[in-house]
Order: sequence, then C-alpha cells, then structure tokens
Amino acid sequence: MAFDNLTEKLQNVFKKLRSKGSLTEADVKLAMKEVKMALLEADVSFKIVKQFIKSVEGRAVGQDVLTGLNPGQMVIKIVNEELVSLMGSDTTEIALKEGKALTIIMMAGLQGAGKTTTAAKLAGKFKQKGKKVLLAACDVYRPAAIKQLQVNGEKQGVEVFSMGDKNSPVNIAKAAVEHALKNDINVLIIDTAGRLQVDEDMMNELIDIKKNVDVYQTILVVDAMTGQDAVNVSGTFNEKVGIDGVILTKLDGDTRGGAALSIKAVTGKPILYIGMGEKLSDLEQFYPDRMASRILGMGDVLTLIDKVSAEFDEEKAKELQQKIKKSSFGFDDYLEQMNQMKKMGGLSSILSMLPGVGSSQMSQIEAAMDNNKLNRIEAIILSMTPAERSDPNLLNVSRKRRIAAGAGVDISEVNRLVKQFNQARKMMKDMPQMMNGMQKGGKRG
Ligand code: GDP
Repeated sequence: MAFDNLTEKLQNVFKKLRSKGSLTEADVKLAMKEVKMALLEADVSFKIVKQFIKSVEGRAVGQDVLTGLNPGQMVIKIVNEELVSLMGSDTTEIALKEGKALTIIMMAGLQGAGKTTTAAKLAGKFKQKGKKVLLAACDVYRPAAIKQLQVNGEKQGVEVFSMGDKNSPVNIAKAAVEHALKNDINVLIIDTAGRLQVDEDMMNELIDIKKNVDVYQTILVVDAMTGQDAVNVSGTFNEKVGIDGVILTKLDGDTRGGAALSIKAVTGKPILYIGMGEKLSDLEQFYPDRMASRILGMGDVLTLIDKVSAEFDEEKAKELQQKIKKSSFGFDDYLEQMNQMKKMGGLSSILSMLPGVGSSQMSQIEAAMDNNKLNRIEAIILSMTPAERSDPNLLNVSRKRRIAAGAGVDISEVNRLVKQFNQARKMMKDMPQMMNGMQKGGKRG
C-alpha cells in the first residue's frame, strides 16, 4: 500500500520529538532533515521537498512552538497542514454541467496507465449518482481497447458507443455526441488512445477532439507506480492539451506515493480520484486531508467510516464489540467477520486505514482473505463442533485431525487457521487501545 515506508519514517521522526519537553531550533532542523530524506525516498520531486521543508521549518521554529504546546504534536500538526495544502484543492469532484445537460468528459493518458478501466469505473460512479452515462470507444489503435471497454461497460450496465477501428477518433467522438444528445445522455465519457510515451500525434489527436466536440472536462489518467514520470507526464499534458484534473491509478501497488504528493504542486491541477485495484469498484474519491492523515500514520478513519456505514450491519457490529470486550469472540464470529470484510473490499483495505497497523501484520491476515481460501476456511469452521467454535483452546491434535478430514483439507490448513484466528483475536483486542492512541496523538494544538 502506498506510503507505508514514508509513514514509518515520519512516525520515527515524530516519536523522537514527542519525548522532548521543549523544542529547540536544532531539534526542528534535525527532524526536518529526516522528513526531507523520507520524502525524497518516497519519490517526491526535489523542488517540492525543498519548498515543503522550508514552510514547515519556518512555522515550526516560529511563534507556534513558543506558545509552549507539546512540541512534538505541534510539528505533526504543521506537517499535516502542509501535506494537505501540498495535495489540496477545494473540490475533488469532477465538475458536471447543471441539471440534465450533457457533460462531455475526455479521458487522456499513456497506454497502460489504466484509462479504459478508469473510464468504466467512472461510468459506474456517475450511474450511481443517477446519471445516464455513455462510454465512447475512440481508442482505434490498440485492438483490444474497444472490446475491453465493451466488456467493462456491460459489467457496469452502461452503454458503449463504438464504430470499430476504421474511423478517425474525431469522427467517432462527433457521432457519439450526436447519439448522446438523441438519447438524453447526461455524461459522455470518451476513451482515447494512449501511446507508450508522450508524442506529438497523441497530443494532436486530443487537441483535435477538443476542437471538434465540446469537451467540458479533460481528465488525465496516470499510473502512480511510475512515480516522477507520472508527474512529468501530467505537466506535459497540462501544457499541451490542458487538463482539468488527474486520476492516479494503481496506488494499491505503489509503495512510495511520490506522485500523489507532487502532482498538484507541479501542475496546479487536483487529483480527483485514486485507483486502488483492478476491480471496477476500486476507485476512491481523493481527499487531501484524509490522505495526509493516512500518510502520517493517523489512519484514514473517515474513509473507513464511509465504507463501514455503507456496508456494515450496525447490529452485528455492536454484538461483535461486546464479544471482543468479553473475549468471547469465536470461530463463528470470525467467519461472520470475514464475510463482512469481504463485502467491504478486503481486510487489508480496512486495516490500512486504521492507525498503527503495520504492513507485516496486514499481509499475514490478508493471506486468509483470498476467496478460495475463504471457502475452505468456511468448510473447516463448519466441521467444528459448536463447543470448539466458541473455545479454540479445545482444539487438540486429534480434534484437528477429525476437523481436517471433515473439511477435506490437510491438517496444516487447520493449524494455520487457528493461528490466524488467534492473531485476529489479539488484534481486535488491541484495537480499542490503538484507537485511543490515535485520539491522543491526533489531539493536537
Ligand atoms: P489503458 O491502456 O490506459 O487503457 O489501460 P487499461 O485500462 O487497459 O489498464 C492497464 C492495466 O492496469 C490493466 O491490467 C488494468 O486492470 C490495470 N489497472 C488499471 N487501474 C488499476 C488500479 O487502480 N490498480 C491496479 N492494481 N491495476 C489497475
């Protein structure tokens, strides 16, 4: 997950500061040197790092600290605010025209950035908001692109306009607009062709589409894993074609996160959404303040709450809390919990938003979340007696052997499940403390 290393490094810096009673200029300078290294290692561009450090330092050794507040918390507060302003913008919504008027959105980006996938993901978002959406397949060079858009459009229940690959992108775009107007479409998303690198032809084609159809929003899709290249590509597209916002894809696979921190500062254009996986539901709105607190390791509790309130069964959650409190959390609850988590996009996506959960703990537990495994886990748990399900301590070797035979799995799998269960149980017990820790750490200034 993005920012893991950065978060860890920043937390170390802050830990050292927290233990100090008061903060000298030298303390701040040293801390800032470490923050600077951490940001550079996260692949944030040098120029931005320099500006960032300068603003934080200026504020940290100035008046703020003299007020005698807890100095460590003061620095976290300042770094947090500066991170928000680095990534920030008033809105990260894609602007749509008023009422039912047709909004035309043109997707741009290099080949492989995730343009076609993201076009379909966006179509789903607009559809959810009650808009009538049309996707137009204008990538006539990559043979699979049209088919890919059709398949994804179908999955989203969104119509795809295509004229094969024998027409020019401009003509297809014009025809798509006509079709959209005739069919009361509210949002037309035009998928365009990418090249392996920035080149004249690609830029001209985009400019040409813009000249011929009334594009309201040009959205650039860039791959977070390409780091500073993504930032440079954004700068070039903005200069040549003009963009209104950026969608940063594959943040799920990017451990450094530099692009997310640099794009706004370099292009002046906001990041609107982030791609967090290959599934069509894996597109999240980008909130600079939430991202900043995620980077600082304070967890992204707001996004978590959004997800939870959308998917979670409140009664069951309360019941579960009680059980965790009373330590009567058993295998049945574990199964229930796993099914809930699956609905919310996997355990790791939940845990990564909580403060203080390290990636190593996450990957161990994540190992249990694969769907096939989930089915086998279910089989194992269902082969236990009710007594065994509520008291895992009963599980001696002969019982485990019986359970393994019942579920048709190897005994090692039963052992693994018991281990994972114990880890999960321990972590759930620790959760309230972690939340407390966060609230204390978060009570700044
Ligand atoms: P295009 O050439 O820009 O249209 O790129 P595609 O939409 O074909 O995407 C290229 C690859 O990236 C595909 O395998 C997608 O599934 C994958 N992809 C797109 N967005 C994401 C994302 O947010 N996370 C991950 N992990 N993969 C993504």
